[in-house]
Amino acid sequence: MVDLKALLRSLAGPLELEASNGYPDAAVIGQSIGDYARGWAQRAAGMCGEADKATIAEIAKALRGYRGCDVDRRRERVERARELLEMMGAETPVYDSRSGGSGASARQQRRISRSDGKAVGPVDGGGAGARSVNRKLSTVNRGVPLDASAASYRSNEQGARRGVDQPRAQRSQPTPFLDQPFAEGRLRNAGWPKRLVELGIETKRDLLYHAPRDYAPVKTIADLVDGERAVVVVTTGAREEAVAGERRGHRLMRYLLWVADETGKAFVTSFAKVPRRGPRAQAVLNSPLTLNYQEGGRLLVDGAVRRAGSLIEIQYSGAERLSKDQGVPAGTLAPIYPLTDGVFQGQVRPVVRRLLEALPPDLPDPLPEALRERHRLLGLAEALREMHWPGSAERQAAAQKRLAFEELLTLQLALTQRKSETKRPGAGISMKPRGDPVAALEEILPFSLTRAQQRVISEIAADMAADTPMSRMVQGDVGSGKTVVGAAGLLIALQNGYQGALMAPTELLADQHYLVLSRMLQTLGAEVELLTGSLRPRERERSYARIADGRAQVVVGTHALIQEGVEFHRLGLVIVDEQHRFGVRQRSELRLKGKEPATRPSGEPDMLVMTATPIPRSLALTLYGDLDMSVLDEMPPGRAAVKTRWLPVEQLGEAYDFIRRQVSEGRQAYVVCPLVEESEVLQAEAATKLAEQLRQEVFPELEVGLLHGAMPVAEKSAAMESFRSGATSILCATTVVEVGVDVPNATVMLILNAERFGLAQLHQLRGRVGRGDHESHCLLVTDRKYHPLGRIAPAVEELSQARSRLQVLLETTDGFTIAERDLLLRGPGEFYGTRQHGLPDFRLARLSRDVRVMEEARDAAGWLIEQDPKLQRPEHRALRDQVGTLRARMDRASG
Ligand code: ADP
Ligand code: MG
Repeated sequence: MVDLKALLRSLAGPLELEASNGYPDAAVIGQSIGDYARGWAQRAAGMCGEADKATIAEIAKALRGYRGCDVDRRRERVERARELLEMMGAETPVYDSRSGGSGASARQQRRISRSDGKAVGPVDGGGAGARSVNRKLSTVNRGVPLDASAASYRSNEQGARRGVDQPRAQRSQPTPFLDQPFAEGRLRNAGWPKRLVELGIETKRDLLYHAPRDYAPVKTIADLVDGERAVVVVTTGAREEAVAGERRGHRLMRYLLWVADETGKAFVTSFAKVPRRGPRAQAVLNSPLTLNYQEGGRLLVDGAVRRAGSLIEIQYSGAERLSKDQGVPAGTLAPIYPLTDGVFQGQVRPVVRRLLEALPPDLPDPLPEALRERHRLLGLAEALREMHWPGSAERQAAAQKRLAFEELLTLQLALTQRKSETKRPGAGISMKPRGDPVAALEEILPFSLTRAQQRVISEIAADMAADTPMSRMVQGDVGSGKTVVGAAGLLIALQNGYQGALMAPTELLADQHYLVLSRMLQTLGAEVELLTGSLRPRERERSYARIADGRAQVVVGTHALIQEGVEFHRLGLVIVDEQHRFGVRQRSELRLKGKEPATRPSGEPDMLVMTATPIPRSLALTLYGDLDMSVLDEMPPGRAAVKTRWLPVEQLGEAYDFIRRQVSEGRQAYVVCPLVEESEVLQAEAATKLAEQLRQEVFPELEVGLLHGAMPVAEKSAAMESFRSGATSILCATTVVEVGVDVPNATVMLILNAERFGLAQLHQLRGRVGRGDHESHCLLVTDRKYHPLGRIAPAVEELSQARSRLQVLLETTDGFTIAERDLLLRGPGEFYGTRQHGLPDFRLARLSRDVRVMEEARDAAGWLIEQDPKLQRPEHRALRDQVGTLRARMDRASG
């Protein structure tokens, strides 16, 4: 039975908190105070006499529409409500902001109340009062950081990050709230914040923008449903512990904690492996897993619910202590954070909540109000609150949208800026084709070009003719014929008396391009040069000389192309093949080769980057917003889709038989050896061993070649050459064959331990076959537990991920679909290496899901730039800072 005092306190407490924090409407988790007061009034009305009912209604009325009020009106309303509460008998809180007291006077008041020996504050022994005093003090401290060295270090870094357009004075100002480290005070010495720092979560901003990976509904015990994950706010009862098992090095402990709320009783269970000795033992015994909570305290618990009749078990996955007046209304969603080992939900949640409560009322919002109105977006503080403790799924969605929008807008603005800087008219070289490049190529090629190839070539030709530097990406699935498209560009450069350079990520691929391009272009009288790291010094010098005086008209190479010493005579076009294999810096370095002072041509070379990694449109707009995009969306005619099959490892023999039959029909096969992540040496050993086994035991009658990354270059080329010529019919290889390799006679791709490869990688590997007229096959071999069509859903995340990858591969050969699915299966950062682009890790935007938001953000970027091209208006300042920080990071990444 709730008594009147407790009831009054359940509103007076939050109001006090609200007042002491400057009215941010954050005192109630997941709800506006207005809404909370309405609910409160309903509950209260049921328990009071007629006289009080009127007052209660009055209180609810005073707080109605609280969220929409400015700070002054909020203060008025809170004061009014608190007066009414006092009239009903609520006790005066220890610290009263209405007295205008500073931290010191609050402390004095507190001392006075103590010396009286009389509890003036809330009945919980001054917990809430003490808390608000502490908070007040830390607010005072905020302006003048105690740890001056740390503070100035951070603000300097801040200045550096902001880039050049930041006024100097800025640097000596106190660190803005969001940029302060989140671990303050006692937390600074605790273990778990350090683990978060290792994950890159350092500042308050980092933590506040660390989005929950999921939510659990806050419920009452009576409403718990078997099988769900839920959160309850309870009073703790008795605790029990028992040894559930004795093992050699540890014992398994089982802990049980009785809990109750006004609707019923339940028990929380948890298990812990406690080592018999060593420091780990103590760590486990001190961890929240032991459910070591005092009887009679208030606790927020989350876990999986098991119901059997009247018994309700909550299998612990997180808990935190709450004070008496901290309320979390049922219906709120509680955050479940992605965390790392040794960090508990119950540790992070309260810290995030305290940050949310402490958000300064004047927190700068990077999204100016006009923009927020235009796109109906929440303000920053509200969005942060609703992302962590949403009042409902809809509010969570609105918060998520707003934060993703901010992230994507910042990126769009940074990319737009960068694009407008490179696209200056007159900065490039104008190269006009002599005649039709398509016709010229078709004359020397045994096939005619696809319509997609023709279209992309004309896009390139138009760019090259213009005097702004070209920055274009050609995106085409494996086997779509990008090499020819690149050749057309090179041809145009040649016709205009300029050199062209093509850079490939591996020697293997450079060799192959050299072969193909010299065959193609030499018929047109061009000199093609190969420049790789494995040239002998003498050859290299000669090669450098030919490049420098212009005898070498087309230079094909690896990273060797961007080494010091390479100087071009008149570089007009640079092409980067399989660009995702390069960092941004390496790409732009090749372009810079055209700018050597001694040989400076009339302008900056054109740049073409080619990629076989299909990029979903949503992502392309984001990652490459500063590039123009050409898509080869058509395969050369006569290509049948590669037939893909999965086999359990027990049936590996059948796969080998299949290869034998194909070889007897004159075809060839790749056998890709299991991926060993740790080292190239181990990988090489594994490949060598597998090749030996294939030679001696499996295919003694056939020629088996070996290709791995650690082989000397000459051996690699020899292995590739004998496979290309058909001298070896089976190539046992590592993933070095993943990119670019083109042997149309190969029709089987056998991948061992396919579960170890990423989806994009598998797709690339499969793309090595199906390049000629013959039907081709991809065989995926794994342990049976990865059975992609198995009916029992695996509980282990890793297992189910691997299975999903195999499923996708069986379902489709379309690179775009695969890329979209890959995005869904894992974050974009991982797949596309956004880090190496200097791009953010998309803490909030999920590119696969937020396509619409992305387009809105692009639209908003255009709108903003139209009005205020340099974002100079005061209301754009926070946004400009943010864009500047990102630009600085991107520029650092690209040199
Ligand atoms: P990728 O886009 O994967 O780099 P390639 O440029 O290596 O593809 O081309 C794959 C194969 O298709 C090569 O053997 C190439 O000669 C052939 N090819 C390219 N264009 C056509 C076409 N229009 N018709 C027929 N075959 C083509
Ligand atoms: Mg290619």
